[in-house]
Amino acid sequence: VVDAGKEIVSEFGVVLREATNDSLLVIDGSAGEGGGQILRTSLSLSMATGKPFVLERIRAGRKKPGLMRQHLTCVKAAALVCGAEVEGATLGSSRIVFRPGAIRSGDHTIEIGTAGSISLVLQTLALPLALTPSTSPSRITVRGGTHVPWSPPFPFLEQAWLPLVRRAGAGIDLELISTGFNPAAGGEVVMTVLPSGPLAPIHLGESTVLSRLRLQGIVSDLSEALARRELTAAGELLKGHPVELASGTVRSPGPGNALWLVARDEGTGIGNVFSAIGASNADAEAIGRSVAEAFLAWRETGTSVEPHLADQLMLPIALAGGGSYTCSELTLHSRTNIEVIHAFTGHRLRAWDLGDSRFRIAL
Ligand code: ATP
Repeated sequence: VVDAGKEIVSEFGVVLREATNDSLLVIDGSAGEGGGQILRTSLSLSMATGKPFVLERIRAGRKKPGLMRQHLTCVKAAALVCGAEVEGATLGSSRIVFRPGAIRSGDHTIEIGTAGSISLVLQTLALPLALTPSTSPSRITVRGGTHVPWSPPFPFLEQAWLPLVRRAGAGIDLELISTGFNPAAGGEVVMTVLPSGPLAPIHLGESTVLSRLRLQGIVSDLSEALARRELTAAGELLKGHPVELASGTVRSPGPGNALWLVARDEGTGIGNVFSAIGASNADAEAIGRSVAEAFLAWRETGTSVEPHLADQLMLPIALAGGGSYTCSELTLHSRTNIEVIHAFTGHRLRAWDLGDSRFRIAL
């Protein structure tokens, strides 16, 4: 039984104009978080629902507004798999028009051209491809960055996001071919998607029973001692939690470092992943502590998912038409996603503040 808490009602909208004569939904790219996620959620929902849209004031709130390489790649990749007609798909563009066609399964190779996040491109395509009525699988290869700041690093995609979308019935597999850091890139991931029919609602329990934690650090072209120092610093804060440690050197075209902690729920197999991306001049101890502290702050709330997974779970739940979970923060990313989902589907995910950094989300 859940304490209903206080319902949170949003104070902003993302729809500039409702569907006009030619049924274009006009989305305000500067609303709420005002970043790339509005674009990616809009692309996925447009592909999945067949609704065309205009996105205006793209990333207006950011230092370098408009479409950057990673965002442009998402637009082009989405257009490729659904044969969309697109206007404004150029670097720096602040407005696009996207008219989706039918999704076609197939094999595609997508080059981001920088160390832009491969995960964000794959997340844009994955669920629409899983929902296509076709019966043949798709194989999508994306090249760019696999462990880059401000995006889900590959371990997050594989151990947090993937188990959840599989649980909803999406036949998705991921394979890490090579690791790519910023700025040298060189990362490659292959995603295979089997059309899976309608998704099932995702309801996560109110509590998690954690299995052994796994803390892993990798370096490329840097001393492995850096990763070991991160592990030691994180490990000291994690005393009392059984934790397995691993460090290693990976092959990548340039220097890089990443540290992540996987906290898996024994019952559901779902992971929460906490990570940090380092650099040659980074403070290893600070990186180690930041990962451990993020985990401990979440764990104290006893909720089912941490704040990043909380915003990323909304799309599969919206496409399934149902789901619920608790999380430790209702971020602006999450609130913005609620609005974009509402604009495309008419479904509004509801959010309650349960107190003590606990939030409940449900559709
Ligand atoms: P912009 O440059 O406009 O901020 P962006 O395209 O990089 O845009 P955001 O709109 O900020 O992206 O969205 C970033 C996405 O990456 C969000 O879904 C967020 O949850 C996710 N994300 C960011 N950092 C992490 C992390 N450390 N672990 C997992 N996911 C992350």
